[in-house]
Amino acid sequence: MAKIPILIKEGKIDESALEELIIGIDLGTTNSLVAIATDNVPAVIKADGKSGLVPSIIYFDLENEIKVGDEAKEQLLLKPDRTIYSAKRLMGKSYNDLNEMKQHLAYEIIETSEEELVKVRVGEKFYTPIELSSNILSALKSKVENLLKRPVKKAVITVPAYFNDSQRQATRDAGKLAGLEVLRIVNEPTAASLAYGLGKEDEEDKMIAVYDLGGGTFDVSILNLQSGIFEVLSTNGDTFLGGDDFDQAIIKYWTENSSLTFEQVKKDKTLTQKLRIEAEKAKVSLSNENVYNTEVDGISLSITKDQFEKLIKELVDKTIESCESALKDADVSKDQIDEIIMVGGSTRVPLVKQSVSAFFGKEVNDKIDPDQVVALGAAIQADILAGNQKGILLLDITPLSLGIETVGGLMDTIIPRNSKVPSKQTRQYTTSIDGQANLKITVYQGERDLVQHNRKLGEFILSGIPPMPAGLPKVDISFIIDADGVLLVKAKELRSDTKTSLKIKSQYGISEEEMAIMLMDSIKNAKSDMEARGLLEARNEGNSMLKSLEKFHRDNKDYLNEDQNLMITNFIDDLNGLIKGEDKNLIHGKIKEINTFTEPLANEALTRIVKNEIS
Ligand code: AMP
Repeated sequence: MAKIPILIKEGKIDESALEELIIGIDLGTTNSLVAIATDNVPAVIKADGKSGLVPSIIYFDLENEIKVGDEAKEQLLLKPDRTIYSAKRLMGKSYNDLNEMKQHLAYEIIETSEEELVKVRVGEKFYTPIELSSNILSALKSKVENLLKRPVKKAVITVPAYFNDSQRQATRDAGKLAGLEVLRIVNEPTAASLAYGLGKEDEEDKMIAVYDLGGGTFDVSILNLQSGIFEVLSTNGDTFLGGDDFDQAIIKYWTENSSLTFEQVKKDKTLTQKLRIEAEKAKVSLSNENVYNTEVDGISLSITKDQFEKLIKELVDKTIESCESALKDADVSKDQIDEIIMVGGSTRVPLVKQSVSAFFGKEVNDKIDPDQVVALGAAIQADILAGNQKGILLLDITPLSLGIETVGGLMDTIIPRNSKVPSKQTRQYTTSIDGQANLKITVYQGERDLVQHNRKLGEFILSGIPPMPAGLPKVDISFIIDADGVLLVKAKELRSDTKTSLKIKSQYGISEEEMAIMLMDSIKNAKSDMEARGLLEARNEGNSMLKSLEKFHRDNKDYLNEDQNLMITNFIDDLNGLIKGEDKNLIHGKIKEINTFTEPLANEALTRIVKNEIS
């Protein structure tokens, strides 16, 4: 455990001496969980003998006092209209989005305008999904504070990979409302991969399938891990498929194979609840045993593992179809998958594990408790953010733009400032000289248009480009900032597969003050920078026009009349002079003039070439 400094005289915790505590939260549809890393090892926070799982359920009593978790779960059947579950399903949704879902909910959703975000009605009060989720987060926060006897202010929260921006923002807002600074929103499959230790090696390049079957939802994600960055290539699933459906299948089987009748079950809510509890017990037990026998209201009920597997086969097959679709969408084949990670309580069912493993033709990763794996990954991410894992200062966003120098000393930004970290951007470049074998790549940081005003971070040379005419090589330059804020620049010539790379660790070795100065400078000089950039761009354009005009003149001199030859010679002299000058408009004007003059000549030349080729 972490050491807690106490001021003995005052009997208080010395907050200033506490290391920063960042918790990892798996905010689930059915259950939520908190984990923290101590000495780099993540663990779920729980009271002795408890699982640490907190049901994601909120109960509002008649005085609108709030209860969250197990206490709220007890009210689910007693006070269905005041007990809110599955708030996560409502996050960032409008009333319109919920058409299908409404029938699944026992509480009331308010019909506001179609596009407005939904609200839930409890008695006379209305709650937004953000407020509801924040109630859960507040309860988790207090629970951890009580157990650890210290305040908690910062968190990493996980969300499904398929959450869109507004759902992610809603989750952030819920955190804020609960008094938590949300340092990062992490995708659940990414967190699960982190928990299995993936993403730690620099050169790791892996395809990962994360199969997540919980109580009420199923999703599968295909991730590509490269240089510490997880990219979600595709997700697929069914937001209404999970272990609860397995329980329902058992209840149906019992009513068909005992003296119980459907009518009885339908009418008697208490009996339904008892059957639900027994069915779940049967399912859990059949993960290890071959048969389960029980009695409900004097009626004997039994089910074997074989029978259970027959009942759920169709549902499991449906999840496998989703895996197939996810692979197709990601354009990845089964045998390209390096790791399969199991998440969610329902992946404990042996048939599920076997089916997934058989489909991918590989063993699955199931060593970590599938209920805890996401929270443990969130704790690892929190630990990285706290700077405990590698001792590098981490930033959520890039403070300044990152780019390379292009022709004429211009800054070409590849990752703009305020981009999320980690981040990856690729841009294609080419050569400017025929037969150019080397390309110098100089990396800069800053907001100014000319590299001379920015901060040079490093340079390297991509050599060995096979001889090709200027403009033909295709050089992909990728900027990859990993979660630790380390920048990796890769260059690759696609036609010849020549590649090289440079790692820059010092990019954030810059003080807040320096950063502020650089930003201020860019604002102050915005106008003159823009002018300088305009002139440089015009000069670059002028130079390339000169090159083509000179070539055209060499090749076609004999076919042109005296006047035409003279005009072209004059154009070349004029443009040469203007490029040396300071007026970009004059350069642009001359280029336009040349284009108008040479267009008919170029057409005639083309006709000549075609004729020659035919004859
Ligand atoms: P989650 O939403 O990830 O917490 O998963 C909860 C689901 O997992 C519920 O439907 C549980 O009944 C189910 N579950 C938990 N443990 C087991 C087990 N040992 N065997 C089968 N299902 C389980």
